[in-house]
Amino acid sequence: MTRKVLVLGEVRDGSLRNVSFEAIAAGKAIAEGGEVVGVLLGNNVNALSKDFIQYGADRVVVVEDEKLSQYSSDGYSQAFLAVVNAENPEGIVIGHTALGKDLSPKVASKLETGLVSDVTNVESAGGNLVFTRPIYSGKAFEKKIVTDGIIFVTIRPNNITPLEKDESRVGEVASLSTEIKDLRTIIKEVVRKASEGVDLSEAKVVIAGGRGVKSADGFEPLKELAQVLGGAVGASRGACDADYCDYSLQIGQTGKVVTPDLYIACGISGAIQHLAGMSNSKVIVAINKDPEANIFKVADYGIVGDLFEVVPMLTEEFKKLKVSAS
Ligand SMILES: Cc1cc2nc3c(=O)[nH]c(=O)nc-3n(C[C@H](O)[C@H](O)[C@H](O)COP(=O)(O)OP(=O)(O)OC[C@H]3O[C@@H](n4cnc5c(N)ncnc54)[C@H](O)[C@@H]3O)c2cc1C
Repeated sequence: MTRKVLVLGEVRDGSLRNVSFEAIAAGKAIAEGGEVVGVLLGNNVNALSKDFIQYGADRVVVVEDEKLSQYSSDGYSQAFLAVVNAENPEGIVIGHTALGKDLSPKVASKLETGLVSDVTNVESAGGNLVFTRPIYSGKAFEKKIVTDGIIFVTIRPNNITPLEKDESRVGEVASLSTEIKDLRTIIKEVVRKASEGVDLSEAKVVIAGGRGVKSADGFEPLKELAQVLGGAVGASRGACDADYCDYSLQIGQTGKVVTPDLYIACGISGAIQHLAGMSNSKVIVAINKDPEANIFKVADYGIVGDLFEVVPMLTEEFKKLKVSAS
């Protein structure tokens, strides 16, 4: 059965976040040969349609309004629902990001449809579309099928591979105008706490520090390694509680969930609440002085040693590899 699927593009700092392209790939799988329509909401976002199409959207619908220049539940849900009403899709895909986690339940409830959230895989089996999602903080996975209504899913960043960018692809870009009214919250200013650089939730490489880094300065060697590998720095709650870093870096049950290709845990004991945020990373390396540390149970590679010796050694080796590869 072919379907028309709407895919929301998430714009940050004037570009589409990578999860938008992953959402297109999920949209294609759900469409099963039908049409994938990209949706862009914001102010001056029309130019991003080209990227969306080159990554696989068949066409794009854009809603532009000054009131959409910053995300708000009220504004975005009104704009997105206007597109849903105009397009009548059989499927909807949104990234399982802070924005998606806020927007999707609101939209699903207005549409009186279900929502399969935090999907990590979409496959076709036995005549059904089967969605995989982690449960119990990543300790198990469940598979779901949708039997009724719109197939509405949010996808976890870094799990579904985007399609190859095809610069020759073209598609229609249409504007939809709708009145955005009754905004109950207005964002006046966004103050960034996280350091500039790679976005932690989308990073392919995460170097995370725990209480073992011992001070804010103790994060410096981790930052250097992250820079060499083009990755982001994260932290355990232990490190955040000790004021070694900002809470925006916290990974875990009450922090961010990350699934990078490579996760290097430095001086992190591996408490269950921390594992909830990183145990689905593709390759996990743990560096810890204590050979009994719990983190080694989930690690693919373990290094028993002092992080202040091991991390700079890794940085130097990766630097050499980069030089010899260039
Ligand atoms: C409701 C609730 C929610 C929580 N949510 C989260 C969450 O989202 N994320 C989270 O991370 N935690 C969370 N926690 C806290 C969690 O239980 C742990 O307390 C926390 O993860 C411990 O942080 P840590 O591993 O950095 O510190 P520790 O447990 O103190 O571990 C430090 C580790 O560093 C090692 N070490 C010390 N020095 C060195 C060195 N020089 N070189 C190498 N290794 C060294 C030690 O051997 C030790 O294993 C939560 C707890 C509760 C109750």
